[in-house]
Amino acid sequence: MDDAAPSSTRVEDLIQALGPLPTAWNIEELCLSLSTRRRRPLVLHPMNLPALPFGLWYDDGISDHIIYRSTVMGFHRDHVILHEICHMLARHTQIPLAAGPGGAGRASVRGAGEFAARINPYTARQEETAESFATLILEKAYRLNPAPVSAFEHRASAVFGTA
Ligand SMILES: [Zn+2]
Repeated sequence: MDDAAPSSTRVEDLIQALGPLPTAWNIEELCLSLSTRRRRPLVLHPMNLPALPFGLWYDDGISDHIIYRSTVMGFHRDHVILHEICHMLARHTQIPLAAGPGGAGRASVRGAGEFAARINPYTARQEETAESFATLILEKAYRLNPAPVSAFEHRASAVFGTA
């Protein structure tokens, strides 16, 4: 069984690979069930570094790590994390890290501004896939559990977009 590692990068297949969503929407719980399904730890790291893109997926060869800005909250945070999960499931283009543990680490980077434009290794198509994935999963999650985010967060997400 290898349903968590699709060869296709169609959004529908990636959503399948994610498995069932938690009935009470919770991104941490989703990451935990994904770790179990993939038999590979997926660890979330909230960090507050000025130069950090909104989200970053890092594969240290044993575990997957998703680093996200700790100042990003609620709907926007979940969107950022799901976006990175999509890159991870789809095995989108990766760049080797200069110095990871064991030297075998790889990372994906996303963000805004000049910094991200220089280091973002993804094609526009891959970014589009990741954005659609995150949006569709959140829509699905909120249908299952209609009140996980406040109206404020919905407005905030509209203002900030889905970066
Ligand atoms: Zn991306």
